[in-house]
Amino acid sequence: MTRISPCSSTSPARKTELTLVAVFAFAGSQQTPRDLGRLRPREKSTALFTASDVCRGTIHRARSCPTAQFGICYSAKHMASHVKLSGLGLCALYLSLVLFLGGVAVQAQEAAVAPPSAVSKPVTDADFIAAADEVLGQMSQITGLKLVTPLKKSLRSREEIRAYVIKQMNEDKNAAERYADERSAEAFGLLPKGFDLDSFMVNVLTEQVEGLYDPKTREFYIADWSPLADQRMVMAHELTHALEDQHFQIEAWAKAARPNEDAELARDSVLEGSAMAAMIDYLMLGTGRSLKDVPDFDPGVLIGDLGSTATLQKAPPFLKDALMFPYLGGLTFSAAVMKNTGWFALPGLFEKPPVSTQQILHPALYRSGKTPRSVTLPPLEKMLGDNWSKLDENIMGEFGWKEVLKQFLDNDRAKSLAAAWDGDRYMVFEQKGTKRLLLATRLYLDSEELAARFFGQYSEALEKKYSERTNLLRRPNFFSFDTPDGGVFLDCLGDECVTLEGATRNMFDGFTKTLNWPLAPPPRERPGAAPAKTAAISAPAAPLVAGIFPPAAQTAP
Ligand SMILES: [Zn+2]
Repeated sequence: MTRISPCSSTSPARKTELTLVAVFAFAGSQQTPRDLGRLRPREKSTALFTASDVCRGTIHRARSCPTAQFGICYSAKHMASHVKLSGLGLCALYLSLVLFLGGVAVQAQEAAVAPPSAVSKPVTDADFIAAADEVLGQMSQITGLKLVTPLKKSLRSREEIRAYVIKQMNEDKNAAERYADERSAEAFGLLPKGFDLDSFMVNVLTEQVEGLYDPKTREFYIADWSPLADQRMVMAHELTHALEDQHFQIEAWAKAARPNEDAELARDSVLEGSAMAAMIDYLMLGTGRSLKDVPDFDPGVLIGDLGSTATLQKAPPFLKDALMFPYLGGLTFSAAVMKNTGWFALPGLFEKPPVSTQQILHPALYRSGKTPRSVTLPPLEKMLGDNWSKLDENIMGEFGWKEVLKQFLDNDRAKSLAAAWDGDRYMVFEQKGTKRLLLATRLYLDSEELAARFFGQYSEALEKKYSERTNLLRRPNFFSFDTPDGGVFLDCLGDECVTLEGATRNMFDGFTKTLNWPLAPPPRERPGAAPAKTAAISAPAAPLVAGIFPPAAQTAP
């Protein structure tokens, strides 16, 4: 499906790691981070808050807001894990940060950040090179990663960066692959029908691209229109990628997870999360403290007003989540892993990368080494015939399922149900001519009880997903109904569940047969329907299940 993954792309497509970003806004503001460190005690308790709390401002107004706010990263990769957006994922993330971490005055930044007077001054190549070298040295000190070879860096115009990003997006995946990504997201209900992902990504990109690190050419670009103070924030993030690349070859490393997109997103989260952690440490330079000293750091406080740009305001919630996950999920993960040892833990993350987004979401599972079960799906191509073409096959992971469930259930239920995930696989097919979609999924849950819970809640989600339902059939562990776009089936056995959407009952029976599952309960006979083909199957089973469910459950609304 679609990976919208941010800045660190791994796909062939991810030729680049672009980072869009970062408007670090305290340059030009009247209150510096240091000032925020001097808040009165009562204020200190709420000192970490989003920029929107403070100034209700947008990223464009950030400079007049007395907080530090920065939007972030566009990566040239895929969109996040579940929106493999046009291949080249881009990441657009807007973060807000009020620099008051744990009651510490942030002093060092006064040295690192250009004074307000520098803000309006055009940045010259010499200024840029000097600042980049300085920040590179600081990031090397923070992360413990030495610069192995000199880094290519250049100041680029808005047009150059924009053209570069769009070119990368187009090279990353061809039109057919981008179409497949878009339709896969649609099949899961993550994007509305007909959503134009390409245009969305181009719009997000053109809203703000501030800088990028391209692991292909090992070059760092930064926007020439940004004030130097803003550029330093972008540099702190991007140069962390550059240093990691010199030691761990980030592109090849991230790609090594393929074709498992869930694992690839987990690796992206390591890249983005560690770059975010390094950026926070950069902000705290000179305070004698760092991220690891901030107890129970909650990256949620960094989220600015995502709706602050026109494009993101209109974005489906899934896209926002997918764009942010590698940054915020990755940051929480990095903070947890580096809690005691700090940056000494970094090489270990590259040597033994997290294998799933579940490990990113639950760092304890990374530490304990809990890995998901590997799941196979039968080759449905044969059963479906020539009229269907396969668009996609991959793994959703806990993050992907959480997003799917969130579309139809409330956030808490989605989160807790997705946490029971223990492995999955899905396939998406498209019918030639009609362009109808067929989605097959198979997933393992942590226990039979949790599979039963999944069955109950996911059947509810499926009902919400399809407003036009007929012939609804609910049986223990089996649920189905018809829609104008085909039948929808959910079946659970032991600790696993399968779904088929956009199919016929015959297809579903063929599907479960290849899994060696017992035949699902028969459809109810329709009044007036010729009993010819189904009578033989339905006759014996019908009496066994009749009366188990109240009539209301058996009729479609
Ligand atoms: Zn990045």
